[in-house]
Amino acid sequence: MTLISGPQVAEKVLSECRRDITQLKADGHTPGLAVVLVGDDPASRAYVRSKDKKCRELGLHSVKLELPATTTQPELLDIVARLNADPAIHGILVQSPPPPQIDEAAIVRAIDPAKDVDGFHPVNVAKLALEDPSGFVPCTPLGCQRLLIEAGIETKGAHAVVVGRSMIVGKPMAMLLMAKGTGGDATVTVAHSRTRDLPSITRQADILIAAIGRPHFIRAEHVKAGAVVIDVGINRVEDPSSEKGYKLVGDVAFEEVAPKCRAITPVPGGVGPMTIAMLMANTVKACRQAVGH
Ligand code: NDP
Repeated sequence: MTLISGPQVAEKVLSECRRDITQLKADGHTPGLAVVLVGDDPASRAYVRSKDKKCRELGLHSVKLELPATTTQPELLDIVARLNADPAIHGILVQSPPPPQIDEAAIVRAIDPAKDVDGFHPVNVAKLALEDPSGFVPCTPLGCQRLLIEAGIETKGAHAVVVGRSMIVGKPMAMLLMAKGTGGDATVTVAHSRTRDLPSITRQADILIAAIGRPHFIRAEHVKAGAVVIDVGINRVEDPSSEKGYKLVGDVAFEEVAPKCRAITPVPGGVGPMTIAMLMANTVKACRQAVGH
């Protein structure tokens, strides 16, 4: 069984970013990312902090806007409009979930698709479906695909089963795997909470992607011997032995599933580091496209 290392592949992606940033800077362009946080959800705050830190490490221009939980829809739309017009900003991300008074879908639609480095704007969703490489693909599924490619997992002709159909992970993951070319050309099945007899479906998978949001949901009975398993899940479970009182676990019961696998990603240390690396890569791509590099 091979353990697919997220940090190792993420570092490779980041070193490609460093190379591209050096070239862009030499030509007078610094890629810029604006991350907008509304409210003070601790998990969101931590995500925003780590994105800002990674930008700075890479030498990107980073703007972190922390807005009060009382921010109104028009105020947020105004900020998005200003970032859309700012030539120093190539990528815009509004951290999810916003407070209830904010219409998140309307905010996503207000972001210039050319700066939508999260890949959530309808134009970018369409570009993914159309296999148009100028679009932005959501960072987590893009990172999963890169993990498969770097681990030498052949997707062409493989049966990939994606459990989860969210717009952030499951659906774009399925589109990437069924697209033509490297990391694609798979035969894809998408399962969700209404799927009948899930284990009989997931057991057909050569490649199983778990994006469910339920701790240790995928058990040995769900997995065929020799399968490749990518665990997207990040779930907090109580852990009195840890200082924080909780620990992070995946959607896969790693201990019992790993011995059956050809390859598997751990949690932590799997998909997580790839998401932020792909965000950096998308920001660099946005800058290159903006300046015609
Ligand atoms: P969502 O809650 O949006 O989607 C979960 C999906 O799982 C839904 O399609 C749902 O089906 C399906 N599902 C739920 N219960 C079952 C079940 N019993 N059987 C089969 N399918 C089921 O979650 P996300 O896609 O946003 O995230 C999924 C996981 O990935 C979470 O743990 C999240 O924390 C993690 N994540 C990790 C990231 C990373 O950087 N590593 C980034 C983003 C997410 P239905 O549509 O029918 O409700």
